[in-house]
Amino acid sequence: ISQPDQPQPLEAHAGDKDLFSKFDDIIALREGLLSQGREDPFNLVMEKVLSPTRAICNGRETILLGTYNYMGMTFDPDVVEAGKQALADFGTGTTGSRVLNGTYQGHKECEEALREFYEMDHAMVFSTGYQANLGIISTIAGKGDYIILDIDSHASIWDGCAMGQAEVVPFKHNDIEAMEKRLKRIPEGAGKLVVLEGVYSMLGDIAPLKEMVAIAKKYGAMVLVDEAHSMGFIGENGRGVVEDAGVIDDVDFIIGTFSKSVGTVGGFCVSNHPKFEIMRLVCRPYVFTASLPPSVVATAATSIRKLMHGSNKRAHLWENSKNLHAGLRDLGFKLGTEEPQSAIIAVIMPDLEKGAHMWEALIRNGLYVNLARPPATPAGMTLLRCSLCAEHSEEEVGQILEIFEKSGKETGII
Ligand code: PMP
Repeated sequence: ISQPDQPQPLEAHAGDKDLFSKFDDIIALREGLLSQGREDPFNLVMEKVLSPTRAICNGRETILLGTYNYMGMTFDPDVVEAGKQALADFGTGTTGSRVLNGTYQGHKECEEALREFYEMDHAMVFSTGYQANLGIISTIAGKGDYIILDIDSHASIWDGCAMGQAEVVPFKHNDIEAMEKRLKRIPEGAGKLVVLEGVYSMLGDIAPLKEMVAIAKKYGAMVLVDEAHSMGFIGENGRGVVEDAGVIDDVDFIIGTFSKSVGTVGGFCVSNHPKFEIMRLVCRPYVFTASLPPSVVATAATSIRKLMHGSNKRAHLWENSKNLHAGLRDLGFKLGTEEPQSAIIAVIMPDLEKGAHMWEALIRNGLYVNLARPPATPAGMTLLRCSLCAEHSEEEVGQILEIFEKSGKETGII
């Protein structure tokens, strides 16, 4: 009787390439930082979250100055209650795509809240803001079309451009003339999409949208603005930099997220384009993924409706931003912008080594900020990114400044 063949292990060859070898540099950089006994800035655990501005992190009570919880909605009692109710009434998840079994009453209500918030005709909710950019950009700008975008655009914008395979034409950050020059060179009759952000999240600076949108229109381009970091805060009604600059009626698409001011997770696009609804059938990152859980869309809709009446919170958040910016500048820190332009204040560090050292001093002294480094940051900068919350009290901003002073002196940064 013959024996069945035994499976033989496949032979490895000396010349085989390990597909992980491309990560060797970043592995070495990380090991270098951690070998000095440092706390890992990219592996922080929130053991308990006490409020939008406080948590227990690495065993210590910590002031949070590195979340995107700009409007402090995560513990709003109405928002929390809406989530609990939806969980009880509709269960934990939809288990399906929006175009099959995954559209519940709550998704429609959430889109209705967005249409009212922006006073626009159409709103489409995605499972994340990343997918909203990926989906809308790749679907509307394809082969043969041109995308003109700021070089400091978010990764989700770049990935959307790559997925759609349009010609990508970047221009220098916030440079109006450079943008016009690029637009001028695009062949006549080609499809053109200009992609901008209201607030750029690394330095916290805003785009000159009034000028840029006018130029885009002059050259017959459609305009998409990502307002992820301004929704709820900037503009009289919190509609973003487009509202503040008076160009909301001139842009074709606004992209946003629920993971910042709205306080949960999800993404969206709003538009007045008469054919916009066809996106629901042709946009792959909308069609081929599960829809948001009912509890998430319920919290989002409640939060968005409350943000319509958030002018007191908006005013307090501006106060916080001004106080922190002035305080840090007076302590001698180098900041990303001359004046505060958003809820993000970036503190520029001399290099990654010193930035990691300062980050660790801050966390040991009870303050969490984001350590940001290339490739996420522009011009190879290392930043300590501070993002304020409308729930930070004036006293807390004072405490934050004291911790910055103490840590800056301990590390020799100031
Ligand atoms: N756009 C910008 C400008 C962002 O900063 C982010 C997230 N940091 C996103 C889109 C993606 O948002 P989300 O977290 O909902 O995926």
